[in-house]
Amino acid sequence: MTQFPLKDKVALVTGAGRGIGEMIALALAVEGADIFVNDIDRISAETVAKKINSTGRKTLVHTADIADRNEVGNMFSQAIKIFGKIDILVNNAGITRDNLILNMTEEEWDMVMDINLKGVFNCTQQAAVIMKEQKSGKIVNLTSVSAQMGNVGQVNYTASKAGVIGMTKTLAKELARYNINVNAVAPGFILTPMTKNIPDTVKQIILQSIPLGRPGKPEDVAKVVKFLSTDDSAYVTGQVISCNGGMYL
Ligand code: NAD
Repeated sequence: MTQFPLKDKVALVTGAGRGIGEMIALALAVEGADIFVNDIDRISAETVAKKINSTGRKTLVHTADIADRNEVGNMFSQAIKIFGKIDILVNNAGITRDNLILNMTEEEWDMVMDINLKGVFNCTQQAAVIMKEQKSGKIVNLTSVSAQMGNVGQVNYTASKAGVIGMTKTLAKELARYNINVNAVAPGFILTPMTKNIPDTVKQIILQSIPLGRPGKPEDVAKVVKFLSTDDSAYVTGQVISCNGGMYL
């Protein structure tokens, strides 16, 4: 077993400026990977890149909006120009715009679909071209427990994340012939900026539904993504791995 299983590997993590994405980027760097840090928020992306550099790994920052096909195309061109390859793509960036179906606006629906679903399509299509040539690759998509069990006020988010599960299974079948593994991680309730504004009363109800009795940490999710990014998971593809403290079984 090599000490750094991801030595000489290059990983592109979307939405890596904070929360779960930041922890994924750091976890992959600790295993030896150089990291392409994507986030629409340049300052947070650069802050994470500096942290990664302090572990001795190389980084590149790109502020592409993953919903924008041209920006994503430019990002992957730059990745190839500078790093020459992409071994791991983590489709982590995602947003919520919660509302009940009776009140949801078209803008709220479209925005969530554009980033959470089309963003995954945009990045995966670019990565697939590169990984096909390399005859190897790992793609890890972030879905959600909300897609598995449904969640009031999240018809747009759950539709997008259920879509990611369908994409993961189809991509696993399409890309297996090129030695590309495609899997998804479905986090439960994880403490990040995304969930910080959930009212305390609602947080208490969620906590009562978690058998392990605590909210998840971004590190909990990053460890699962790390497993799916190394050859420890060489024979795993098309799977959705739950990381939810038992919240949904
Ligand atoms: P977060 O809001 O804390 O961080 C998301 C990051 O993505 C931010 O830095 C943001 O700037 C970036 N981003 C947003 N839109 C972008 C775009 N268009 N292009 C590039 N970057 C963009 O979120 P998080 O809680 O860390 O969630 C990470 C992923 O995990 C998301 O896909 C989310 O849906 C999923 N998830 C989170 C939870 C949870 O409880 N936090 C649960 C299940 C699933």
